[in-house]
Amino acid sequence: MDAMYDAAITPATPRALATEAVHAGREDLAALGLHAVPLDLSTTYPSYDARAEAARIDEFATTGAQPEGPPIYARLDNPTTARFETALARLEGTQSAVAFASGMAALTAVLLVRASMGLRHVVAVRPLYGCSDHLLTAGLLGTEVTWTDAAGIGDAIRPDTGLVMVETPANPTLAEVDIRAVAHACGSVPLLVDSTFATPVLQRPVEHGAQIVLHSATKYLGGHGDVLAGVVACDEEFAGKLRQVRFATGGVLHPLAGYLLLRGLSTLPVRMRAASTSAAELARRLSVDPRIARVHYPEIGGAMVAFEVYGDPHDVIAAVRLITPAVSLGSVDTLIQHPASISHRIVDEGDRRSAGVSDRLLRMSVGLEDVEDLWRDLTEALSARPGRRAAGNGVRERHSAGR
Ligand SMILES: *Cc1c(COP(=O)(O)O)cnc(C)c1O
Repeated sequence: MDAMYDAAITPATPRALATEAVHAGREDLAALGLHAVPLDLSTTYPSYDARAEAARIDEFATTGAQPEGPPIYARLDNPTTARFETALARLEGTQSAVAFASGMAALTAVLLVRASMGLRHVVAVRPLYGCSDHLLTAGLLGTEVTWTDAAGIGDAIRPDTGLVMVETPANPTLAEVDIRAVAHACGSVPLLVDSTFATPVLQRPVEHGAQIVLHSATKYLGGHGDVLAGVVACDEEFAGKLRQVRFATGGVLHPLAGYLLLRGLSTLPVRMRAASTSAAELARRLSVDPRIARVHYPEIGGAMVAFEVYGDPHDVIAAVRLITPAVSLGSVDTLIQHPASISHRIVDEGDRRSAGVSDRLLRMSVGLEDVEDLWRDLTEALSARPGRRAAGNGVRERHSAGR
C-alpha cells in the first residue's frame, strides 16, 4: 500500500476525541515528510496497466471498497477527501464514513441504497430539517414515509421498511429522542440519526445502537460557513454501497472541501465547548426574560438555542446588528433565522405546526463572540422598534447600490 493511503491506520491505543480531532486521517504525514495535509485536485490519474485498472474497477463494482493503490478517477476516489472520511469515522466510532457534496446528497444516497434493495418505506419522526422532511414527503426518490413519534416507531415498521430516521437534537425545535430506546424499537431495521446539531463531541449515536449517522458537514464539522458538504458514518458494508451510489450519481465532495473539513475537525471540540458555554448562558437569560414565551435548549447541551417570542419575530430578525440574520448554522459567528419563513418554509404549514415549529419560533446558532456582546445585541433586538429595522434596511440598500 502506498504511504499516501495509510491514513486509515487505527492507533494501537485508543485516544481521546480532542486528540483524534487533530491527528486522525493524518498519521502518515510525518513519514511523507509533510506537516500540512496535501490537497490533491486531480480529476484523473495515469495508469499504464489497463488490466490491473479493470480488476480494480471490478472489485469496486462488487464491494464498493475504496480501491487500494493510486486513485482512478475523482468521482470514485480522492485522497484528500478520504482523509476527512477517515477522521470523521474515528470521531464517530464507526468503521467508515462516506462524504458527499451536501447533507442532502448524503441523505439521498442513503435512501437510494435502501430503495435499490426494494426497501422503499421510511419511518420518520418530526421535526426534521425542512428539506429532509420535503425529500421524504414529496417521494422524489420513490420512497414512502410514515410519520410517527418516537413511541410509535415499532408499530409503524412494515416488512418493506428500509430505514428509521430521527434527528436529535432536532432542527429547529431542539427536541431530543432517546437514541437507545428508539434503536431498540427499530429491531433489525437500520436507524439513521441526523446528528448535525450534536456533532461527535456531544453524542456518538452508534454507541447507543444507531447504524447510520448523518451530518450536514456544512454546519459544525466545517465550522466556518465556507463549505457545503455531507457525510455518512456507518459500517464498511453500508459504506461500500454508499460509495457505489456516489460513483453512479456523482454527488461527490470537491477535494478543497475535503481539505477544509479536515481542517475544521481539528478545532471542532474547542469550538463546540466554547459556543455551547455561551449558548447555555443565553438560554438561561432568555428563560427568565418577560419578552420570551418559551426557550428550547437541549439536555445534552450544544450551541443552538431556539425561543418563542411574544412579539413579532420578524422585528427581531430585522433588528439584530452583531448577530447575522441568515439561515444555516454552526459557524464561528452567531446566526439567527425564522424557521417558519426560511429553513422549514418548504414543509406544509399544518405539518410544521404539529411538529412544534411555532410561527413565533426563532432559531439561533451561537458562535464564538463574547457572550456579553451577543446578549447586548439580542436584548436590544428583542425590544427594537421599527426604527432599528429601517437602519438594517439601509445597510441592504447601500449594499445593492454598490453592485
Ligand atoms: C442543513 C441541514 C441538513 C442539510 O444539509 P446541507 O448540507 O444543507 O445539504 C440536514 N440536516 C440538518 C439537521 C441540517 O441542519
